[in-house]
Amino acid sequence: MDLSVVIPVYNEKDSLEELYTRLSAVAKKLNVSYELIFVNDGSRDASLEKLMELSKRDSHVFYINFSRNFGHQIAVTAGIDHTQGKAVVIIDSDLQDPPELIEQMYLKYKEGFEVVYAQRSKRIGESWFKKITAKIFYRTMVRITNVKIPIDTGDYRLIDRKIVEYLKKMPEQNKFLRGQIAWMGYRQTAVEFVREERKYGETGYPLSKMIRFALDGITAFSDKPLTLVMQAGIVVSIISFLIIIYALIGYYSGRSTTPGWASIMVSTMFIGGIQLISIGVIGLYISRINKNVINRPLYLIQDTNLETQN
Ligand code: UDP
Ligand code: MG
Repeated sequence: MDLSVVIPVYNEKDSLEELYTRLSAVAKKLNVSYELIFVNDGSRDASLEKLMELSKRDSHVFYINFSRNFGHQIAVTAGIDHTQGKAVVIIDSDLQDPPELIEQMYLKYKEGFEVVYAQRSKRIGESWFKKITAKIFYRTMVRITNVKIPIDTGDYRLIDRKIVEYLKKMPEQNKFLRGQIAWMGYRQTAVEFVREERKYGETGYPLSKMIRFALDGITAFSDKPLTLVMQAGIVVSIISFLIIIYALIGYYSGRSTTPGWASIMVSTMFIGGIQLISIGVIGLYISRINKNVINRPLYLIQDTNLETQN
């Protein structure tokens, strides 16, 4: 098997036919042996039926049907776990990632690159809110992590079998695939593309999921929040110490006649706030440690037409 394509699907019934046609065309043009592995991540529309129909029509098409919605990163992980290809492409199912780009990616892969990621030079038709938050997020990640996560790239990329095998050995429960792959190193390169508008349906990444995803990325690849908390603690302690000295001097010199309600309130609130934030940040890390200790299976498969042990 030369090429496996992994496609997470969440409520995408309308785009699947076109996606399938365009992916098949690319694979035929490259003249490679290939498989298309669709992972149905608990869609509530007719996506599964569509996938079953495609798989009956074409023996290149496989589907994995989750028992419920496990999230995009887990869906991609499940697909990757079941690939056979020497090269594996991860692509969104909403046609925002143009399948035709795989041709360029594959040529780069043939030149010897283990990772070829698609970098968006432009995003069409996405809300300014999404663009701005994404921009801030990618640039912050670069500054606070030790891993060179390329700017403005999603998970649309081609990876070599080697990378796939290492990904399988990374047991973390909170996946941040683009970070994990960047962390691995090897020869990585980019091909540029214009991110198109979503043609059908709506985004499966509302703000809540975006925040969770960002926190997963930050906590998995950076200790910066913990360091910041410690620095804040030190600064606040120094200030408190100065205030204590000031108060003592006032007391012994007999000048402290007015009871300082205001200053007490301000400092109590301030320190209380810092403490709550600090506990929250520590909690973020602990909850992720906890998940990994419990070590539940990442996903449950309800049915599939792949031959698996699961
Ligand atoms: N997706 C998924 N599970 C989810 C949410 C999304 O498998 O819980 C899939 C979705 O079908 C798409 C890809 O992940 O193929 C990217 O999602 P989406 O297009 O909604 O995100 P956006 O492009 O808006 O960031
Ligand atoms: Mg999308």
